[in-house]
Amino acid sequence: MTHCGEQDKSDKLINFRDRFYIPLASDGTQVIYFAGNSLGLQPKSVRDYINQELDDWKNLGVLGHHNAKNPWLPYHEFLTENLAILSGAGEDEVVAMNSLTVNLHLLLVSFYRPKGKKYKILIEDKSFPSDHYALQSQILYHGFNPSDALIEIKPRRNGYSINNEDIISFIEEHGDETALILFSGVNYFTGQAFEMDKITEAGHNKGCIVGFDLAHAIGNIELKLHEWNVDFAVWCSYKYLNGGPGAVGGAFVHKRHLQDSTIPKFWGWWGQNKSKRFDMDHVFQPIPTVESWQLSNPPIFQLAALRASLDIFREAGISELRKKSISLTGYCEKLINEFNDGRIDIITPSDPMQRGCQLSLKVKKDGRNLYQRLIRSNVICDWREPDVIRIAPVPLYNNFSEVERFVKILFSPDNA
Ligand SMILES: *Cc1c(COP(=O)(O)O)cnc(C)c1O
Repeated sequence: MTHCGEQDKSDKLINFRDRFYIPLASDGTQVIYFAGNSLGLQPKSVRDYINQELDDWKNLGVLGHHNAKNPWLPYHEFLTENLAILSGAGEDEVVAMNSLTVNLHLLLVSFYRPKGKKYKILIEDKSFPSDHYALQSQILYHGFNPSDALIEIKPRRNGYSINNEDIISFIEEHGDETALILFSGVNYFTGQAFEMDKITEAGHNKGCIVGFDLAHAIGNIELKLHEWNVDFAVWCSYKYLNGGPGAVGGAFVHKRHLQDSTIPKFWGWWGQNKSKRFDMDHVFQPIPTVESWQLSNPPIFQLAALRASLDIFREAGISELRKKSISLTGYCEKLINEFNDGRIDIITPSDPMQRGCQLSLKVKKDGRNLYQRLIRSNVICDWREPDVIRIAPVPLYNNFSEVERFVKILFSPDNA
């Protein structure tokens, strides 16, 4: 454990840490913040971005919609290019709007269209509860029974991550009765990154719609949603995207669906053709982009916060971030394995291509105590029942020295 100083010196992205507020412990030192998978840190620039909008509201009132420095009417468009880069999409395919579960419902309205014996939804085991609730309620809404219509792909016995070949053969086996496949890009619990291109292809071969929940993927791994032919995707922005608590989420719809008027959709005035929106007539003419799924005018302050962070992502570059991420998380894994006294199992896949920056540590005994001791030692991470501590060394603001300090704390005799 002697090289980390060197690794930090050769880290091209090391200065991006200074763009963020790192929370301080009661003794005034910076905590080790490994919870960017749960709530990303605040960029220092956020205040200026939000103040601009507060000032324009103060000085312009309603005229700010057109005359603000960053006019509010098209404000969401200022985020589109950066979101397109992060998701590997065209600018007409992505939009910042709502929050994740809301977007999931809106896109299920459009893309979960059960027909005949093709009515099931296929999902990975241990996916996020909100996704399950959304799917269960959509299934009920269509008059089916979730215990029959929602099918889960499970890991092999005693395993955590799901075997890639098992996913494909499961799709081949159950595809004929499946209307829609919804997978995480990266599973929130295990940290496993799925092969989105292959899942999409296998689903399409069986005539299924394939969507992804990218809550733990966007800003974490590189995405190529358009090229992978993904039908739709949704995400939240308060995790790796650092958009702040309750940040505005996002949605992707593949270009080939954008002008298909047979796709059902819930309508609102923000989806209306921009040149017609203020005609105030009652004829809905959808914007010919994914923006037609928008319902309401969006929260500008929240968009401003997210915009500040996306501008930083743009500067750092997602492929540079991913490179650093692979070595940072790899270093963390290597040190844990070196010092492990048998107390911990890393349940996240060890192949860097099958994970992002998160490592999920299954603690064999007294996990909750270990977690609480970590928190008392000013390591901010999180606990997931029944026995998992999740840590995420985030390449934008974490560094190699922190990884080293973390592993020392994790295996310190006080923590035994
Ligand atoms: C964080 C997370 C959510 C959160 O949903 P919100 O609607 O934004 O509160 C949903 N799904 C997954 C997989 C998540 O990780």
